[in-house]
Amino acid sequence: MDDCLFCKIVAGDIPAEVVHTTERTVAFRDLAPQAPTHVLVVPRDHYANAAELATGDPEAMAELVRTAAAVAVAEGYADDYRLVLNTGAGAGQSVFHTHLHLLAGRALGWPPG
Ligand code: AMP
Repeated sequence: MDDCLFCKIVAGDIPAEVVHTTERTVAFRDLAPQAPTHVLVVPRDHYANAAELATGDPEAMAELVRTAAAVAVAEGYADDYRLVLNTGAGAGQSVFHTHLHLLAGRALGWPPG
């Protein structure tokens, strides 16, 4: 999509600190990190949210989780990390290209805010 921020990052048109790539995913550091490790994992193809990705490309949805796990391991947090999928503005989604937040490296309270 022409006006999608994360499509532009996937295409390399907007810079990002990419930490891991796979056939279907790209993982890069969040611009406003909320934890020592805060990485966003996105599918290369555009889907607006997690449910749409799971329906349209289930293997990419699974690859999103596997990529996040690989980054957690690489950053030394194999056993303690959080994955977040905000869906809808009311739940905090601000970029409407599916992205899995990986948060790790600090104590993470529950319930989340
Ligand atoms: P969400 O609020 O769940 O839609 O998450 C969007 C995330 O994208 C936020 O955590 C932002 O800090 C992050 N973000 C926005 N623009 C960029 C960018 N250019 N590079 C990396 N992360 C970004």
